Amino acid sequence: MKPTIIIGSGLAGYTVAREVRKLDKNKPLLIVTADDGGFYSKPMLSNAYAHGKEAAQLVSQTAAQMASQLGASILTGTRVSGLDMAAATVATEAGSFEYGQLVLALGAQPIRLGLNGDAAHEVMSVNTLTDYAGLRTRITGAGVRARVLILGAGLIGCEFADDLAGAGHIVTLVDPNPMPLASLAPPALSQGLAAALRQRGVDLQLGTTATRVERGADGYQVLLNDGQLYHADVVLSAVGLRPELSLAQAAGLNTRRGIVVDAYGRTSAQDVYALGDCAEYADGAGSVCLPYIAPLMTAARAIARTVAGTPTAIDMKAAPVIVKTPSYPLALLPPAAALRETGAWYTARDGERTICRFCDADGVVRGFGVAPQDAVSRQALMAEVGNAMALAA
Ligand code: FAD
Repeated sequence: MKPTIIIGSGLAGYTVAREVRKLDKNKPLLIVTADDGGFYSKPMLSNAYAHGKEAAQLVSQTAAQMASQLGASILTGTRVSGLDMAAATVATEAGSFEYGQLVLALGAQPIRLGLNGDAAHEVMSVNTLTDYAGLRTRITGAGVRARVLILGAGLIGCEFADDLAGAGHIVTLVDPNPMPLASLAPPALSQGLAAALRQRGVDLQLGTTATRVERGADGYQVLLNDGQLYHADVVLSAVGLRPELSLAQAAGLNTRRGIVVDAYGRTSAQDVYALGDCAEYADGAGSVCLPYIAPLMTAARAIARTVAGTPTAIDMKAAPVIVKTPSYPLALLPPAAALRETGAWYTARDGERTICRFCDADGVVRGFGVAPQDAVSRQALMAEVGNAMALAA
């Protein structure tokens, strides 16, 4: 029997393998991955520093342990260079492999800003364990009070800012928007987060962006477009990720921002599936990239059932995004983009807690944000979604 081949050993690849194995003990599984195949939880990368964690400490299982646990063959350090849909083969530097079914779990690549300057290429980003190891080495090499300049005050930039400032480093956070988390959070919570980060010692430089990074006698010199010059030991870019499309595009698969999949996680080629950060999922009449853990888990369960012989649609339930900023822990369920123009945010206070509900034009709750968040406040708000907002709220 030809194996099911999974490309990628991130959470998407390993979760689909685990789910397939639960359903079928005998199906041959081959996982091909460009990295070392160690299992780790990627969200820990942005809050591991303050806990003093080395990259190796984040790996809970090696590739060999995963292979034995999953009853799978794992080819590590092996980049797939091409897909041949007609022949149903995957080309790698270690040879070509036939597949019965193919699952693309290729992840995403950090977006690089078009910065000028002789050190623009030394700007770091963190999307892998190796990136995290590199960041730790640079920061620890710069001493106990390293100067870290972070570009991008989105989810990951804010998490790193809080984590590194909490570890005692001198952090500057730069973003062109007037507030952190501008595209995800309601304004009241963005303001709360900005205040908490400042309280933590983070220098927030908002409404501006970096244009140039030069090597100076003492680290980097970063020029912002408002004319300010910053000195930094480390420049970290957290301006977002772009789904990994190169293999899919070269093979002629249907792609938009991500690899387009239908309600079952199927790409435009027969027996080829995609999930995780590389995928663009069906969403009503449109499609959407959901680069978070909860959606990839849901997709993995459905794809595994389909691969094991029971076609199963992905039941993508809305799940709040938890922002790992201990200074101001947030949970956010952003409203669908199409509703933002016609609906509005309503803010309430409950003691220390700020609760924001987004209601559509009919007064129905379509999104929320809460800080400080916990499981109880999150679940209570989730239960309100789809219902008319209570007048007392
Ligand atoms: P990846 O983990 O990127 O895996 C991609 C795999 O594909 C890798 O093994 C790679 O080696 C392999 N690969 C790629 N190309 C090839 C090729 N040509 N040949 C062979 N192998 C290849 N989400 C949340 O829900 N909550 C959070 O708190 C959260 N925090 C985050 C913090 C950080 C710092 C980051 C970066 C992300 C965070 N996320 C969070 C997002 C979440 O971690 C990702 O959505 C998820 O881990 C993506 O998993 P993946 O398997 O799709 O991709």
